[in-house]
Amino acid sequence: MIVFQNPCDSEQPMTAVHQREEKSESSMWYEKIAEGLAGPQIINDSKTPSGRVHVGSLRGVLVHDAVFRTLQNRGTEVVYQFGIDDYDPLDGLPADATPGLQAHMGYPLCNIPAPPGSPATDLADHYISEFLGIFQELGVAAQVYRMRDVYRSGRFNPAIDAILKKSDVVRRIYAEVSHAVRPEDWHPFQVICENCGRIGTTAVTAYDGHTVAYQCRPDLVRWARGCGHQGRMSPFDGHGKLPWKLEWAAKWQTFGITIEGAGKDHCTRGGSREVAEQCLREIFGGTPPLNVPYEFFLVSGAKMSSSKGVGTAAREIANFLPPEILRFLMIRTPPKRTVNFSTDFEYIVKLFNEHDRLVEATLERDRATREQMLRMIAVNPAATAYHPVGFQLLVALLQLPHLDVEREVDQRTTGGLTESDRVSLRNRLAAARYWLDRYASEEDRIELQTRLPVSASTLSDWQRAFLHRLGEHFPEQPQTEEGYQRFIFDIARLTPIGQHAAFAALYRVLIDKAQGPKGGALLAYLDRAFLVQRFLEIDFSYPAFWRQSAITDSDCEHWLKKHQGQILNTSAGCWLTRGSSGESPGLGIIEIRVTLNDGKTYLLRALLKDFEGEPQNGAAATADLEETGNRWLLALSTNARVKILMTEKTIMVPSN
Ligand SMILES: [Zn+2]
Repeated sequence: MIVFQNPCDSEQPMTAVHQREEKSESSMWYEKIAEGLAGPQIINDSKTPSGRVHVGSLRGVLVHDAVFRTLQNRGTEVVYQFGIDDYDPLDGLPADATPGLQAHMGYPLCNIPAPPGSPATDLADHYISEFLGIFQELGVAAQVYRMRDVYRSGRFNPAIDAILKKSDVVRRIYAEVSHAVRPEDWHPFQVICENCGRIGTTAVTAYDGHTVAYQCRPDLVRWARGCGHQGRMSPFDGHGKLPWKLEWAAKWQTFGITIEGAGKDHCTRGGSREVAEQCLREIFGGTPPLNVPYEFFLVSGAKMSSSKGVGTAAREIANFLPPEILRFLMIRTPPKRTVNFSTDFEYIVKLFNEHDRLVEATLERDRATREQMLRMIAVNPAATAYHPVGFQLLVALLQLPHLDVEREVDQRTTGGLTESDRVSLRNRLAAARYWLDRYASEEDRIELQTRLPVSASTLSDWQRAFLHRLGEHFPEQPQTEEGYQRFIFDIARLTPIGQHAAFAALYRVLIDKAQGPKGGALLAYLDRAFLVQRFLEIDFSYPAFWRQSAITDSDCEHWLKKHQGQILNTSAGCWLTRGSSGESPGLGIIEIRVTLNDGKTYLLRALLKDFEGEPQNGAAATADLEETGNRWLLALSTNARVKILMTEKTIMVPSN
């Protein structure tokens, strides 16, 4: 069941919640980080390509990208580089492993063949290519490097030499910081075994400044079995690699990295980040880069692992969400807060709507902050602005029969769609289709009701009267979405009926749901004759409607008093109905129409006391009201064959 508020179906421009959001944006996290930095900066992030990359890995990529863009915007000399840790051993089978992969456990990822049919050069390339393709789509301008090239080029040789010479220091730091005690002959390095080619199974036991002594041990790790070979070889020029905590320190030292964030699981006390930082200080005398710890990106929603095989790979989410929405998702939440992503309808619609509010906000308040945020989430910050079409509406339109959505949206856009509007619309239509195909449950789907749904019988006479009025007053000429939206609100005020009950009735008779897309949009895209017929075929009982919608005469006076000073003009009317068979009492009402100086007209209805007899002209008749001073006075014409039990009903209208 979708419990969904219609943010567009509110006449309130800004709720308290919106104001809070606006306020928190005024100190965006990336600006705060950039404020504390001086001089040229080198930002680094990295990924081990040991399987299809999870969407959560994009958080680090985009957190770093936001810091990068902010520094660029401030005119700081800055480089963003992204390392592929493809010299790491295969130490676990990926979910989509081919049968032959088990035999390659322990080999460097870049030395393992790509799966059959893949155009990639090797396993690492196979997995990382998919991920790097997303960088391009998201406008992430990181300089990519591969650790195989770094090791093989000899660029890491000085760092490897320094670290191996201080193996005792590394062992002490491991023991002190992370309480991991290593044997006396343990050296922080692994060579690629000359005999079997594995890297995950070798242990280095000595270093003489030129070569290391190593063993390829059958029992070093559980996930791979070494061949037993022993030998001596140079650790330089790609013959092996550092353990990753030392590799981290070596990267910081060799590349001069000044900013590198890490997932919070690495940033615990005694964790890998702390070990790497201590090694950097003690071995190289270096200063650790600025850490930007970021929280988990969680994916919920049962549908994410449905039988359709939809998963949480970064590629799949990037296939779904338009790039600016994906950037917005990853960047708007401060890194220290967990993101709980879901493909549920409510979550996705809210995500798009919050993005759209950012794009379309017209308030001057926090303008600079919003513009900064827009630069962060744009794929190409120099691209022209566009007007987003609501995701919920597109999902609905795609489900209406015989509708060319792009053409219809174009026709209903004042001045037509611009080129950037069109690009945005196509991306969003693709996202809406993707969502409908893969994530929508049966309850999420809408179906235009070609006949009045049976469940319409649950609507109150009050709601039915509202719908009937929509039909009676439906505009002759086509309106914009906003025009129809105003029309719905106008009729709701003149019924009068609360907004929630009004829209619920509208959705019920059109799509047989309690919620739906923006009501004005629904009216704009549906056939006028169909709508008028649907609204007019709904019948209701006047006495029941009046009883449900009337307020007391003292509440009427209270309302009028409250709006004293805003009243432009008032008018009034009185209506009567006969009692059944002339035996039960009839009903009468006084209605006062009040136009306030915001131009909106409200209707107040007060019920008269029951009366006996029949009004003169059949089932319903009007009676006259006289304005006497500031009072509307009910004055039935003398020839009415009606005995009003309460001879006088007056409502005080305050004078301005
Ligand atoms: Zn071996």
